[in-house]
Amino acid sequence: GPCSVESREQAFKTAEHLHKLGVRFLRAGAFKPRTSPYSFQGLGADGLKILRETADHFGMKVVTETRDATQVDRVIETADIIQVGAKAMYDHGILHAVGRCGKPVLMKRHFGATLQEFVQGAEFVLSGGNSQVILCERGIRSFETKTRFTLDLCGVAFIKHHLNLPVFVDPSHAMGYAYGVPDLTRAAMAMGVDGLLIEVHPTPKLALSDASQQLTYDEFSSLYSSLKPIAAAVGRTLK
Ligand code: PEP
Ligand code: MN
Repeated sequence: GPCSVESREQAFKTAEHLHKLGVRFLRAGAFKPRTSPYSFQGLGADGLKILRETADHFGMKVVTETRDATQVDRVIETADIIQVGAKAMYDHGILHAVGRCGKPVLMKRHFGATLQEFVQGAEFVLSGGNSQVILCERGIRSFETKTRFTLDLCGVAFIKHHLNLPVFVDPSHAMGYAYGVPDLTRAAMAMGVDGLLIEVHPTPKLALSDASQQLTYDEFSSLYSSLKPIAAAVGRTLK
């Protein structure tokens, strides 16, 4: 889905497109943790409502994040999968709340977190009694500046080898530019990951957040069909 829910129409059209392809999870932000206070912060509670109603219309599941502990209960109540954003990975208020919530948690790796710290973040949720934790690699900060972050596929291999938890890859935030997203997605698919988080927007250039990295509907459609043979080759099905 899109980076942020921007309007009912934007969410609806995007969900309609994704649903037609067979995508079952609608992921977008209502409470956006932005680096600058002057950037779009999300539609908040209204965005959450739009997301829920849109997903229900198409029989899809909602994945959305909580920015801080003040909206965690509201997000837990509304979403089907609770996203813990990269910057929230160290927020113990959130980790404790989602540890008790009984819903799956999509935990993103902080861009400065070692694999050990990432796993320990997940352990906070697991030790709270919630066994449904998905780990999501979304790029770490390196010396490189030409791409937004550096996608750590070694880390993905590490998680697959050492942990018995599903692992997702988010090539959109790692790359930061739409042109690189299809190849990175295919690379991740070839590793047999359990899920992919890809940003899609009706008019990426006009997006209120993460404009440079979101795919158009057409770009997403062709990426999606190119994934099918790769998924089959690694014994996976797209669903
Ligand atoms: C997001 O997934 O929309 C997001 C803000 O990503 P991250 O928390 O990985 O920066
Ligand atoms: Mn985004």
